[in-house]
Amino acid sequence: MEFRDLKAQYEAISPSVEQGILDVLESGRYIGGEPVSTLEGSLANYVETRHCITCGNGTDALQLALMAWRIGEGDAVFVPDFTFFSSGEVVCAVGATPVFVDVDAVTFNIDPNELEASILACKAEGELDPKAVVAVDLFGLPADYAALRSICERHGLLLLEDGAQGFGGSADGKKACSFGDISTTSFFPAKPLGCYGDGGAVFTDDDDWAALVRSFAVHGKESMKYDNVRIGMNSRLDAIQAAVLSVKLDAFAANELEAVNRIAALYDEALVPLVDGETLSVTLPTIPQGCRSSWAQYTVRFADETLRDCVKDRLGEQGIPTMVYYPKPMHEQRAFEEKSRIYRDCSVSERLCKTVLSLPMGPYMHERDVIKVAKALASSLNLAVS
Ligand SMILES: *Cc1c(COP(=O)(O)O)cnc(C)c1O
Repeated sequence: MEFRDLKAQYEAISPSVEQGILDVLESGRYIGGEPVSTLEGSLANYVETRHCITCGNGTDALQLALMAWRIGEGDAVFVPDFTFFSSGEVVCAVGATPVFVDVDAVTFNIDPNELEASILACKAEGELDPKAVVAVDLFGLPADYAALRSICERHGLLLLEDGAQGFGGSADGKKACSFGDISTTSFFPAKPLGCYGDGGAVFTDDDDWAALVRSFAVHGKESMKYDNVRIGMNSRLDAIQAAVLSVKLDAFAANELEAVNRIAALYDEALVPLVDGETLSVTLPTIPQGCRSSWAQYTVRFADETLRDCVKDRLGEQGIPTMVYYPKPMHEQRAFEEKSRIYRDCSVSERLCKTVLSLPMGPYMHERDVIKVAKALASSLNLAVS
């Protein structure tokens, strides 16, 4: 069994992917051009933002947003403590200081109450200038943007949505990657919408920020590449990946998002008998009312670390791959030792790192494999499941 079966997806769409790649090879134009601009149009249309600017990867996308906002030395950017390293790395990369904030135990996303308390603590300390919040749509579930937006407005902060795992999710009918003042995503192969290499995108409704992101992504260019007015970077999505993504976006919108939600529902159904067993029980992912996940991961929780590690080993013995996303909270990463803050304890994040386990997942997963995982999970807990 695969953790995420990218080969099954390729087999389902290979004729169109291969045609798309061939067209680029034959065009003689390998950077930029029509495949990239067409894709940007389709992505902006799907997410419902005015602008989409593709770039080299999801990490660059985040950094480009911070660069467009001129965030740097002396600025504080609030980041969830339980996320992938990039969400905080980019803050240091532009010279600012990440402030790690605890997450909600149920949704795994940044806790709005903890965020506001951390902003107040940062202001009271008076050393850093609070500028922005990075909200991550962890495992595919949009963060609590209604609450986050009002906190950002109250304190004059910009909201950056890290939708690397969130593409395809929604809340109250609004699509992920449209919630931030600027939003970003990643096309790393294993993300909800992935290409066959690295890729990323920035989304915004703001014309000036969109122009700045485009400039920073191509060496700080003005109207042309050889007129450079700011120090930028070289971060582009290449034409072959754009052609791949156009095919993949169609498949994603036509059936993969539905399919992965069906797999999540099957997991829920198969695992429900394991939920009430007190200490030897499993906690399933919870999707708040009005939200839809893109299920980048299907992540369950156990009572403690020993039980989690034991289940992981037993599943592994039966050929079922699982992953611990994430084994370490951000505030414990050595890279942040010199430059980061936490004003409040991040005990929820610490606990999640010890108790979460992500199960095999994806739109091309077979129902029989979901049952197999559920049965193996049950037997590793010494519980029966029919
Ligand atoms: C994958 C990921 C990124 C970075 O994306 P890359 O394309 O790998 O650079 C950023 N944030 C989160 C939450 C991610 O999962």
